[in-house]
Amino acid sequence: MTIRYIFVTGGVVSSLGKGLTAAAIGHLLENRGVKIAFLKLDPYLNVDPGTMNPFQHGEVYVTDDGAETDLDLGHYYRYTHSPLSRASNATSGQIYDTVIKKERKGDYLGKTVQVIPHVTDEIKQRILACAHQDPATQVVIVEIGGTIGDIESLPFLEAIRQFRHERPKECLNIHLTYVPYLKAAGEVKTKPTQHSVQALRAIGIIPDMILCRCEEPLSQEIKAKISLFCNVREEAVIDEKDVAHSIYEVPLELHRQGLDTMIGKMLDLQLRSANLSSWEKMLHTILHPKGQVIIGIVGKYIDHQDAYKSVFEALHHAAIHAGVELEIRKFESDRVLENGSVEQTICGCDGYLVPGGFGERGWEGKIQTARYCRQNLIPYFGLCLGMQIMIVEFARHVLGLKNAHSTEVDPNTQDPVISMLSEQKQIQNLGGSMRLGAYPCELKQGSLAYKAYGRSLISERHRHRYEFNNQYKSAFEEKGMVFSGKLEHGELCEIAEIPTHPWMLGVQFHPEFKSKPLEPHPLFREFIQAAILARAQNLV
Ligand code: GLN
Repeated sequence: MTIRYIFVTGGVVSSLGKGLTAAAIGHLLENRGVKIAFLKLDPYLNVDPGTMNPFQHGEVYVTDDGAETDLDLGHYYRYTHSPLSRASNATSGQIYDTVIKKERKGDYLGKTVQVIPHVTDEIKQRILACAHQDPATQVVIVEIGGTIGDIESLPFLEAIRQFRHERPKECLNIHLTYVPYLKAAGEVKTKPTQHSVQALRAIGIIPDMILCRCEEPLSQEIKAKISLFCNVREEAVIDEKDVAHSIYEVPLELHRQGLDTMIGKMLDLQLRSANLSSWEKMLHTILHPKGQVIIGIVGKYIDHQDAYKSVFEALHHAAIHAGVELEIRKFESDRVLENGSVEQTICGCDGYLVPGGFGERGWEGKIQTARYCRQNLIPYFGLCLGMQIMIVEFARHVLGLKNAHSTEVDPNTQDPVISMLSEQKQIQNLGGSMRLGAYPCELKQGSLAYKAYGRSLISERHRHRYEFNNQYKSAFEEKGMVFSGKLEHGELCEIAEIPTHPWMLGVQFHPEFKSKPLEPHPLFREFIQAAILARAQNLV
C-alpha cells in the first residue's frame, strides 16, 4: 500500500495552533476511514523537552513507551486514535545525536559529514520509521515546528522538499499562516502570508493548500488575492478563524469548508462519507451546559497557559461528560499563603487539583491546599507531585510527623515519607532518566479508584523520580489512608485515597495524558462528579 504524507508548516508568527490544526486534519481523515499517524519534528537542539523548564516549553507529554515529547502529541491523542510513541516526535537534538554517533562509529566510511545529505537523510529516515510503525498506516501527518524563516528549521524543510521530490504524487504541503485585521486601516492584510509563502518557495516548497488563521472569516475577494499571489487554487485557501467557544470546533469548521474532501482528491484517497454527529453533539453540550462547576488548580507554572495543557483539557472532558460548564481558577502555589492562610486565597471552588511538578518552590502552598481540602471535606485530586503532597500533608497533620517531607525537597528529613525510587539512586544524567511511560497497576476492590475504572487492572503513564516510602505504609493505613493502587507484581504505591472523605485521591501517574473529549478519563470524571455534588450541597 502506498503511504501518503501531509506536511504542515507554519508562517508569519508562532503560536498559531499548528498542532491543533494538524490534529483536526487527522480527526477528519480518521472520521472518513483513513488510518493516520503523526510525526512532530522539533527544530530545537534538546534531545527531548524533558529537561526544559515548563515556562520555556509548556507541558511535557509522555507516551506509553516512555518518550518525553512535545505537547502537540497531546492534541493528536485528544483528536484521534492514531498510535503515539517514541517514533512520533523527533528533535534536531536527536537527529544530530544519531548522525554524530554514526560518524564516531565510522559508518560514513571517511566521507565529510554534512547537513545535506547526512542530516536530511536521517530526518527522512525518521519520517519513514513513523510511517511504518503500524502496517495499516495510510497517511502520515508531519508537523514541522517553528516558523518559516527560522534558521533552525531549514534542515527539516530541505528534507521534506527532497522527500516530495522522491514521491511527487504522495505528498501534500499545507501551510498555516496568519491574516491579520488592521483596525486602524479597517482592512485584512494578506502581505505577511504572501511573504511567508515566498520564503517557503525560495526553499523549494510549494504549498498546495493555505490555511489562514484570522479573527473573522475571509471574504472571497481576500481568498482570491491569496490564491493569485501564492499560486494556490482558490478553493484551497481556507480560513481558520478564532473559535468562539471551544477548540473542538476546529475540525467542524474545516470540514464545512471542504478541507478533508480536498485532501482526499489531492492525495487520491478513497474517503467514506463523514459522520461528525457525536462530535457535533459534544459541541452542543458545551454550548448548552446544565450547570457549572468551579475547579481550583494550585500549581507552580500556572501563569504559563500551556504548562498544564492536558490537565485543563481532561477537566474539560469530564465537565462535558457531566453536561456542565467548567470554570478553572488558577492559583500560583507560592502566592497562596501571602494573605496568611489558604482559606482566604483559594476558597470558593467546588474542588481542587494539585498537578505534577518539581523542586521546592510553592510546596507549602500546596500542602496547605491539601490540608484545607481534607479538613473541610472538599474534593481534592493530586496528580504525581499532587499525590506526594497529599501524603506529606497527611503525615504531618494526621500522623503527627511534623517534619515529614519528600527527600526531593529535604534530603535530610527525619521522616522521608516520599523518597527516591531505588532504581533512580545511581542515575547521573538528568535527561530521559525518570521512571517513564506506562506501567500496569492493580486496584483494590471497593476503592474509589476501582469504582471509577470499573476493573482491577489498569495501565497509566508515569514521569517521576520519587515514590511513597513503604516503611510508613502501615502507619498511614492505621490512620485511615488506603493505598488503592499498586504496581502489578510489585510494591510501589500508585494511588492513595481517604475513604472517610467525599473524594480525596492522589495518583503517582499522569491520568491527564489519557483523556479524550468523548472518552473522559475515569478519575477526572469522578472528581468532577464529586465537585458537582459538593457544589450542590453547598448551595442548599
Ligand atoms: N517531583 C516529583 C518526582 O519526581 C513529582 C514529579 C511529577 O509531578 N511529574 O517524583
